[in-house]
Amino acid sequence: MIDATAVHPAACGCTSCLVGESVPLSGATEAQVAALLLGKLEDRTGAEFRVQATYQACAAAPLTEAVPKAVTVQASQGLMWFFDSALLPLRPTP
Ligand SMILES: [Zn+2]
Repeated sequence: MIDATAVHPAACGCTSCLVGESVPLSGATEAQVAALLLGKLEDRTGAEFRVQATYQACAAAPLTEAVPKAVTVQASQGLMWFFDSALLPLRPTP
């Protein structure tokens, strides 16, 4: 099994996707989407991504140190993924 190095457009059926060198966005796992958004997989999707993170902050856990409780990623083709903070660690900029 080859590890994919790039993510292609949804439903792509090119030879690279067929042999596993790349993966179509519609078949990407949560880990592959996280790697794509973190710059660890090449983005050839042509998609725009909307990332929504929900934080819980209070005096004992200020926002500058908070990790998101939930992260939702939507792609322009109507695809959606849900992440826990371990897969897609996001921190607010102080
Ligand atoms: Zn492809």
